[in-house]
Amino acid sequence: MYDDAVAHRYHDRFLERIGRTARITGTRPELASYVDVPGLEMMIHVRNVASMVASDFSDRGGLIQLARKTSRVAPCYAPFKHLVIDWDGSVVVCCQLRSDTVKHASAVVAKIGQDGVGLVDAYVALGPWRKSLKGFGPKAAPCGSCNVYEYADNPASLLVGRLVGEEQLPGVQILKRSASRLIGKTKRL
Ligand code: SF4
Repeated sequence: MYDDAVAHRYHDRFLERIGRTARITGTRPELASYVDVPGLEMMIHVRNVASMVASDFSDRGGLIQLARKTSRVAPCYAPFKHLVIDWDGSVVVCCQLRSDTVKHASAVVAKIGQDGVGLVDAYVALGPWRKSLKGFGPKAAPCGSCNVYEYADNPASLLVGRLVGEEQLPGVQILKRSASRLIGKTKRL
């Protein structure tokens, strides 16, 4: 049960700790507020576990015990779409994972600034992860139990899983040219 009084107590205690005030923006399904910090958008959410479970929240690479467990076979395109760099330069496969837990050590592929590693090296270092995640089939830890973006294995997603990352296939070239014409863009910015 979500207890409003308890939520307010924790909310206020946190504000006291950081020496700020805040404007409440909502109380359902959970207490939320904007903290008064000039030039920065900072929000507080006093989480409602029941609504998080109902909304099928992420198991964060197996770290959150309350989240739904799955044996992931669906592809994942997160490392195609994002380049996630942690506060200390650690390059992580996706934002669901944490570089500061040993459970996710295998998902830290490089460290920006260490051994001359730059942004391009970081993106390239993610290549094996992109390859292992792009199709249907069992996934290695920590992705093996991940419930985020579980695509259904219908013909469309099976086709996408086969084509993604296969830049040299003639079909992919044709698709890219057609898409470029449709959106009026001929080269990547
Ligand atoms: S499967 Fe989950 S943990 Fe793995 S890269 Fe995708 S979103 Fe991240």
